[in-house]
Amino acid sequence: MKFLDEYRDAALTRQLAAKLAQRVTRPWTLMEVCGGQTHAIVKFGLDTLLPPGLELVHGPGCPVCVTPIELIDKALEIAARPEVIFCSFGDMLRVPGSKMDLLSVKARGGDVRIVYSPIDAVKLAQDKPSREVVFFAVGFETTAPANAIAVAQARQFGLKNFSLLVSHVLVPPAMEAILASPDNRVQGFLAAGHVCAIMGYTEYEPLVRKHRVPIVVTGFEPLDILQGLLMCVDLLESGRAEVENQYTRAVRREGNRPALELVREVFRVVPRKWRGIGEIPQSGLGLSEAYAEFDAEMRFGVAGVGAEESGECISGLILQGVRKPHECPAFGARCTPDHPLGATMVSSEGACAAYHRYRRVQAATH
Ligand code: SF4
Repeated sequence: MKFLDEYRDAALTRQLAAKLAQRVTRPWTLMEVCGGQTHAIVKFGLDTLLPPGLELVHGPGCPVCVTPIELIDKALEIAARPEVIFCSFGDMLRVPGSKMDLLSVKARGGDVRIVYSPIDAVKLAQDKPSREVVFFAVGFETTAPANAIAVAQARQFGLKNFSLLVSHVLVPPAMEAILASPDNRVQGFLAAGHVCAIMGYTEYEPLVRKHRVPIVVTGFEPLDILQGLLMCVDLLESGRAEVENQYTRAVRREGNRPALELVREVFRVVPRKWRGIGEIPQSGLGLSEAYAEFDAEMRFGVAGVGAEESGECISGLILQGVRKPHECPAFGARCTPDHPLGATMVSSEGACAAYHRYRRVQAATH
């Protein structure tokens, strides 16, 4: 396939792995931030090609995984209302809330629909003026522009029956929280290329200066990831804490300016709770005052809904790079993709799902 096979070339992969082995002179622990990168690493066995001493830990970059349980419960409560058409991307439908998931609401008669774009939900609101159409706006910086366009369109069309249930999170504050934690083991990051295609990477520069930890903006194919690792190890071995860009075919330092302007108009930065991790200051987006009328939490009066995490799931530690999925006592036994206990086993980008799908790791027996 054009523009895909080139980045999966086996001979070049082996060459990059050999270069990496030559460059590593001492142990390093690096984190790939994005769940898409985690899946590529496990799927293609890239971590099995790494030299001894170079360890990869998996980061919090799966938006489905970090959506807090009380927000799932709010989605369930809204979706169960007879006047509501609840629209979501498919990967949110099986994420467990405290009692059930969106698929269960659908099975009980709720009008829950999978859409492929927030604009589809806007069109639905136009077509069904007697119904309330709610879109579950989950994601990182990558999906914020499309959601901002949807809200701006709804306003332009004068729609009063469209709203967003917003669970947007921002990557740099999560990286700051990981670096500031007393348990932190991460010495360098591979940042997510698609996030940086929107936001650029200027926000990483103060992080690098403060914590003296290099960050390499990296793509998602095997050669991207190995090259990103090589660049990051090169920075570490030469004692340089800098931001570098491996994903130059998609990312510019300043990001996508028109998209960022629209996001800043429609959203504002808010504190946000991350599933399994807790609240991180200034780590999310909520609707700005100018667009507050499109806020589903306010419209349906669910702002006060709260819920407790399962005590058994250690996904919070996995998302911070402190533990690996197979170290969870429930992995592969009480928690499987068919019967997930936590969001990291549900999502197509979750680390537990990646280990379960691609790795023959022995299930925990206790
Ligand atoms: S295996 Fe299941 S219970 Fe364990 S951390 Fe992963 S999602 Fe949570």
